This record gives sequence, C-alpha cells and structure tokens, in this order.
Amino acid sequence: EAVDVCAVLDSVVRNFSSVYEDYTFRQICRERVHIPITVLHLEQIFIILLDNAVKYSRESRKEIHLFVYAENGKANIVIQDFGIGIPQEDIPYVFHRFYRVDKARSRKQGGNGLGLSIAKRLVEKYEGTISIESKEGEGTKVVVIFPIKEKQR
Ligand code: ATP
Repeated sequence: EAVDVCAVLDSVVRNFSSVYEDYTFRQICRERVHIPITVLHLEQIFIILLDNAVKYSRESRKEIHLFVYAENGKANIVIQDFGIGIPQEDIPYVFHRFYRVDKARSRKQGGNGLGLSIAKRLVEKYEGTISIESKEGEGTKVVVIFPIKEKQR
C-alpha cells in the first residue's frame, strides 16, 4: 500500500501546531510522493522528529521547516530546526539507545534517549535511511530518504 508522504506530514504538523501555538511550522511539499509504508509508522517517525525539533529549539527562533521532494527516484523528507544543535562529536551516537547529548549542559527537557533509535529502526524497516547534519548553536537538519513506490517512478 502506498502512502502520501505530504498528507501524513500535514496531519502530524497540524496536530503539533495546535499544541505548540508559539511555533511556526513551514512546510514545503515540492512533490507528492507515495511510499510503501504503514501510515502509523510514518506518523511515528514524524512525531519523534518533530518532538525533538520542538524540544531542542531556542527561544529566539521557534521555527521548524519541513521539506518533501523526490530525487533520484527516492522520497526525501527534511526536518530542520534552528535550535541548540548537536556537537559534531556526538552526532554518531544520537541514534544509539539511551544516548543523550546532555553531559555538561544542563537541560530541562525530559527524555530517555530512545526517540531517534526507534525512528531509525522504523525507517530501516522500509529500506530507508536517516541522517543528521547539525551545528551547535545554529540548528539541526534531519534527512530521511525512502524508496518511492515502484509504479510511481
Ligand atoms: P526521548 O526518549 O524522549 O526521545 P531524547 O530526545 O533524549 O528522548 P532521542 O530522540 O533519541 O532521545 O535523541 C537523542 C539525543 O540527541 C537527545 O538527547 C539530544 O541530545 C539529541 N537531539 C536529538 N534531536 C535533536 C535536535 N533536533 N536538536 C538538538 N539535539 C537533538
């Protein structure tokens, strides 16, 4: 079964904006891509990534950008925040279970360090990839890439 990525993202974003009214969610869906996935799983991936984008944002820029586009026969989904960012040396570990970047910085936000490991497992279940680019004090960009449904290509 093929799922419309933009439609699912749209409904998750609408839920988030109703809860986090002080945040701006800017969504750009360049192409309507369909991928073979279970709606619930795609929703869960988006919820984890949006939850992080909100949790690790900074007071000065409560903005989250979302992009969906097709490239090289794949669906690309980008979730970008302008928050606290992740130190370069921590990036390889954030997908590990129970890993949290906190160490020195005190952090009010709760969490167990499980979200990204669950997201990665879900993405890989559907032959996708998930990667992170980040700069401390500037923000974080999470890129999820899925194969597009055969017929659509
Ligand atoms: P939870 O178990 O509730 O998901 P968590 O947010 O700590 O808790 P992960 O989602 O696995 O767990 O993230 C792991 C760590 O990576 C976080 O503790 C945080 O330090 C860092 N991180 C994840 N997303 C971001 C982001 N968008 N900006 C900055 N740091 C992030």
